[in-house]
Amino acid sequence: MKNSKIWVNGEYIEQVKGIVNVSLNTIHYGTSIFEGILCVGTGKKKVIFRLQEHIERLYYSAKVLNFNISYSKEEWYKAIKGLIKINNYKSCYIRPVVFMDASYLDLSPKEKLSTIIMCKQFNIYLFLLQMRRKVKLTVSKKVKNTWEGVLAKAKISGKYINSAIAMIEAKENGFDDSFLLNEHKKVCEASSSNVFVVKDGIIKTPFPDNILNGITRDSIIKIGQNLGYSFVEQDIAVDELYTADEIFLTSTARGIKLVSRVNSKKIVDSTKMKIGQVLQRKYIEIILGKDDKYDKWLSSF
Ligand code: PMP
Repeated sequence: MKNSKIWVNGEYIEQVKGIVNVSLNTIHYGTSIFEGILCVGTGKKKVIFRLQEHIERLYYSAKVLNFNISYSKEEWYKAIKGLIKINNYKSCYIRPVVFMDASYLDLSPKEKLSTIIMCKQFNIYLFLLQMRRKVKLTVSKKVKNTWEGVLAKAKISGKYINSAIAMIEAKENGFDDSFLLNEHKKVCEASSSNVFVVKDGIIKTPFPDNILNGITRDSIIKIGQNLGYSFVEQDIAVDELYTADEIFLTSTARGIKLVSRVNSKKIVDSTKMKIGQVLQRKYIEIILGKDDKYDKWLSSF
């Protein structure tokens, strides 16, 4: 943090100098859009996982809030790669944010946007170790995920109050995370991950219509299909969590996480080779650049 740099409206500046105005609309009303992107560095190699898709999703989120992003996709790629280079980071989590840089009083101010990119360095081996640690989840009683359609699919900061409350609730009760249900009491997501439930060899995941269409979710479906697994997109009832053979979560920040427990119910696998583990192993191989079939997903620099 001390000497680290961030990118602000086209310039690299010291992170400590990145101070925002307290009256920003975005602080008061959550009017910003963002992304979370993974950069993996091993040896001399450095790759960003599915960078184009993340930037596409950022543009999608911008459209939903009527934000007019003034940078081209190429400029985003250049700025992100430049920032990682300038910080001399190996593996890091990249966080671009576009926010309303206007006074808080007006709910829909005449558009004045600012753009920042931040990176948080991490140790890839600790990240992989963490990924292999199973998690215990509860089902949130406090919040429902009622976002629908385009709003559900956009990564808008204000929406994350749901996730934050669900996470606080989980931690208060000794769990790692919470499942969020929709208004029909079906499982949507965990606080910041997509959900997969395995029963008798079939892998189910909620329809993508009213959830964040995770890039890791999409990757896992494609990887799984290439390995011969079948996926079904359908509603998942809470009971199905308790009777599942396996449950796993997918996200950029945490990768593929196997769930060991839902409330007091232990998730027991009846098969020998766990599907979640197979997919997790393959995903790790891919982000480490060890399977050239997936090189198209990796932007190296
Ligand atoms: N759902 C929510 C609510 C999220 O915040 C995230 C993290 N971006 C995900 C799912 C997983 O998306 P991705 O795989 O693109 O990180």
